[in-house]
Amino acid sequence: MNDPIHQPDAGNPVARDLLAWFAQARRDLPWRHTRDPYRIWVAEIMLAQTQVARVLGYYERFLERFPSVAALAAAPLGEVLKAWEGLGYYARARHLHRAAQEIMARHGGRFPEDPAAVRALPGVGAYSAAAILSIAFGRDEAALDGNVRRVLARLFCLPAPGEAALRALAAGLLPHGRAGDFNQAMMDLGATVCTPRRPGCDACPLAAHCRAHAEGREAGFPAPRPRRALPHYDVCAAVIEHEGRLLIAQRPAEGLLGGLWEFPGGKVEPGETLEDCLRREIREELAVEIAVGAPVATVEHAYTHLRITLHAFRCRLLSGEPQAVAAASRRWVRPGELERYAFSAADRQVIAALR
Ligand code: SF4
Repeated sequence: MNDPIHQPDAGNPVARDLLAWFAQARRDLPWRHTRDPYRIWVAEIMLAQTQVARVLGYYERFLERFPSVAALAAAPLGEVLKAWEGLGYYARARHLHRAAQEIMARHGGRFPEDPAAVRALPGVGAYSAAAILSIAFGRDEAALDGNVRRVLARLFCLPAPGEAALRALAAGLLPHGRAGDFNQAMMDLGATVCTPRRPGCDACPLAAHCRAHAEGREAGFPAPRPRRALPHYDVCAAVIEHEGRLLIAQRPAEGLLGGLWEFPGGKVEPGETLEDCLRREIREELAVEIAVGAPVATVEHAYTHLRITLHAFRCRLLSGEPQAVAAASRRWVRPGELERYAFSAADRQVIAALR
């Protein structure tokens, strides 16, 4: 925080040139119009794994629906997931919701300013904590996201810098009392000028300080990491129709897509046909027997750590009353009611195919 002896300054030449550039080139983004830590927190959690352009479509709508920590804490999780639907990485929404409840319970509804308390909130990692603390509270904390890591790797010609080395470099450049602007300027520079493939060095305010540029080797830093092939799974989903209603199931709260609704089903086991898989999964998950009918859609989808091919079939209930044996909940809904529930992107494609 600022104090009378250490006034905010532009710091070293790198910070000085970066801040001068930021003063005229900063992107006008809605979360930059506030010092409210709640609004900054929501923005940073959304931005942690999603591009700015995509976050813009969600941020203000989310805040209209949940204008305060108290409103978010009091909302049912299903509504929070619905507001998040399509943003991906749904653990973020679940953590945001749980953290809001903790802020109500432990901090009297005020977003904490103490760094240890901020870092202890569910879903707040090192990057988000540093971003919130510097932007909302003016703390001298360096936030390292992918953009900032790339800029630092190029500035210092580091092909494969470790986390500790990057933290030390960023901390060394941080101008006292201006960390919020510095962090946002680094993020903007990485997103708009020092881009992964074709950095715009001619327009870069840090060109005079950049070792990679001086050596004409900008594209070599950081060194590209070999891509791992993602494992692939075939997954089946049953669109079970009965008396004009469709059966949907809610995934358990934790894990991939936790808390979202889906057409029930699961992973195809080795040697299993798609139809056998569906009958087994529905028996295990909902304790009913079904007849598998015509295919509805085949959807390819990639997550960060795996790829799936989702095979959806129309199905008919043969016997039994569905119970949520291996699901958090289950519900019969009319097709027009599907919009009220949060589904994954892959299931949304199945719904589109149904129409
Ligand atoms: S000079 Fe080029 S490589 Fe260096 S920081 Fe600027 S844009 Fe990135």
